[in-house]
Amino acid sequence: MIAQTASPESLLARPLVTLRSDIHVPIMPTSSFTSASSAVPCPVVESLDAILPEEPLLMMGAGPVPIPAAVAKANTIVINHLGGTMVKVIGQVKTMARYVFQTKSKWVLGVAGPGSAAMEMAISNLAWEGTRVLSIKNGFFSERMAEMGRRVGARVSTLEVDDGTVASLEQVAEAIRRERPEIVTVVQGETSNTVWNYHLKDIAALAKAAGALVIVDAVCTLSTMPLEMDAWGIDAVITGGQKGLSSIPGVSLIAFSDAAWARVKGRTAPNAHWCLDASLAENFWHNAGYHYTAPVSGVLALHEALRLVCAETLEKRFARHLKCSLALQEGIAALGLHLYAPQACRLNSVVGIEVPHGLSPADICGHISRHHQVEISGSFGLPIVRIGQMGEQCREHNLFRTLHALGRTMLDLGATVDLPAGVAALEKSLSGGARHLK
Ligand SMILES: *Cc1c(COP(=O)(O)O)cnc(C)c1O
Repeated sequence: MIAQTASPESLLARPLVTLRSDIHVPIMPTSSFTSASSAVPCPVVESLDAILPEEPLLMMGAGPVPIPAAVAKANTIVINHLGGTMVKVIGQVKTMARYVFQTKSKWVLGVAGPGSAAMEMAISNLAWEGTRVLSIKNGFFSERMAEMGRRVGARVSTLEVDDGTVASLEQVAEAIRRERPEIVTVVQGETSNTVWNYHLKDIAALAKAAGALVIVDAVCTLSTMPLEMDAWGIDAVITGGQKGLSSIPGVSLIAFSDAAWARVKGRTAPNAHWCLDASLAENFWHNAGYHYTAPVSGVLALHEALRLVCAETLEKRFARHLKCSLALQEGIAALGLHLYAPQACRLNSVVGIEVPHGLSPADICGHISRHHQVEISGSFGLPIVRIGQMGEQCREHNLFRTLHALGRTMLDLGATVDLPAGVAALEKSLSGGARHLK
């Protein structure tokens, strides 16, 4: 690229050397690109070995989460993005995804991009100029759906929900009566403030009864807790790879109901987002054709992540997540720390912990990472740290290491915690002891 700064005209203006009488080659001064003062010099950088920690960090934050060996292995493979092998892989990804979404809908698609790209695929295909959207806003991620709606020109109204609570069914019914939405957006688990929208099924029923389509963000919850797309009447479910599914970040999944797909197909103006246009994505995900070059390695990784979900079964996977998350919560409470979300609407997939007086989330996350090689998360300005309980994070050995590292970190930073009591409570809960959660 660097050598191509001269225009064809300026090349022709250079002296020509004659090789054969019929071939004329312009003479390029050999020093032309290295000596120009505007040239970008070849950089010296460190290798990844020098940058990455010697011991990999245990990823116990709000995502990305650790990946199983089969997922990591699949992610090293590159195959043709079109052709028989890929068609078979895509077919199985859709079949397994239907199980995980609990839908018989044909309209399952993958997305090259983060969970937010799947979110934008849902919003930008179903909403456009003037579409009435009601967005139930519990926090940072549910607000993102509202923002995406505004950006495609939809008339978005938000139902603002206080931190630490969920929207009541009365509030939702009232907002639906007032706004007469064509689309309702709602998050199953609001990862930012660790609130679980336990009314999801009833909210979907209210919206459906009013003739609205329901879009659900299940990025952090899918495959960690029940979500039944068909039985609950949900019209679009979105998820990312790097959370509940324990795949890599950057390849996501979406499912549309038949009603949602009919709206996608019936729109008159095309989606302004070419990459996220569901009708174009249908070429690749349903017709073995070309849309854009699929992230093949990531799709293979997702295939393996889904295969492991199917091998475990949803029932056992939900039970593992519940058991591990409750045990972690009991351990944290027994340390003497406070869980952020009230028990009634507490999300199990991501656990929020109040930061003790005098400490900051950054102090805690920095210390636990540097001294214990355990990575946990802060949360967009809230006075909490968050520990994930998604996919591979829900393993007993990871819980012990994380709880111990958290307790040690608190002691090192001068907070008072009862570390032996915390670890004992974790063990007791995992081995089936009584629960005393507040
Ligand atoms: C993480 C998350 C997102 C965003 O996912 P990205 O992959 O970061 O785009 C959206 N919604 C929820 C509930 C999440 O937890």
